[in-house]
Amino acid sequence: MVHEQVHKHLHINSYGSYLRRRFGCRVSKVNVDGGFTCPNRDGTKGTGGCIYCDNASFSPDATKPVIPIEQQMAEGMAWHRKRLGSKKFIIYFQKFTNTYAPVKKLRELYSRALDHPDVIGISVGTRPDALGDDALALLTELARTRYVCVELGLQSMDDAILAWMNRGHGLADYLKTVERVADRGIDICTHLIYGFPGETRASFLKTAELISRLPIDSLKIHQLHAVRGTRLAELYQQGQYRPISLQEYISTVCDFLERIPAHVAIQRLYGSAPLDLLVAPGWGLKNNQMWYTVVNELVRRGTWQGCRLTVDNLRVSNL
Ligand code: SF4
Repeated sequence: MVHEQVHKHLHINSYGSYLRRRFGCRVSKVNVDGGFTCPNRDGTKGTGGCIYCDNASFSPDATKPVIPIEQQMAEGMAWHRKRLGSKKFIIYFQKFTNTYAPVKKLRELYSRALDHPDVIGISVGTRPDALGDDALALLTELARTRYVCVELGLQSMDDAILAWMNRGHGLADYLKTVERVADRGIDICTHLIYGFPGETRASFLKTAELISRLPIDSLKIHQLHAVRGTRLAELYQQGQYRPISLQEYISTVCDFLERIPAHVAIQRLYGSAPLDLLVAPGWGLKNNQMWYTVVNELVRRGTWQGCRLTVDNLRVSNL
């Protein structure tokens, strides 16, 4: 039976519908750049960053650190109000590692975001190894009265793949941080990527089993893609990275979603990059076409998010 949290047309529990149920109106996420850096780039954890990392590819032009966040918020909120009719907003600290600063700076930035009357909460993107006790205490305090989501980049549960991408942390760091964040009134979102060289569909599907056992509230999934100026783009040009096909991606993501519990909201189903920066894969689909290619495949299959899980949401069935 289709779970009530699964959207009847989308066949998934989309984050948009999750927010509408929770807050009673259309809520949009607005990206801001708080001027952070990343311990995997400045030498604290590593240098060079993850091999696919080029923040220019996933930050809208309006979000420059020199621009006060109030201005970034105003521009983002105006866009979402006009385009989507959004009434309330979650301010998303996206670029680099948004807990990687003294807690005084974090408090100041998060509070400035939360001061706006139409802002219901914040979402903070970070690494599993960069959430200090003081930052966690601050987020816990804010979560007593506001929506607070911590977005943890796991990307892969395979330590060998994490090492290959120069991630600088392992699965154990992620598991420890999920345990520390759980039961504090903070939502947890996990970021995953499919399409690493040497990764099989079966090994990626094991990630669904892991997620279904953890207190994860939402997920972002996207394909591995190479953008200009990254180490991954170099590997592609040298013939050492071969992207997966669109068909393989869609099929695997649908298999994955069928194994994810219905209560986990889906924030993303694909990655996007400006065309002038994207090196590979070039699937030629716009964002909403990617979204609906996944959704339409679930509809074609007659399946939906969580359909392969038994009622206790832990064991995968042979549908
Ligand atoms: S952790 Fe994030 S910001 Fe840091 S290098 Fe990796 S992808 Fe880039």
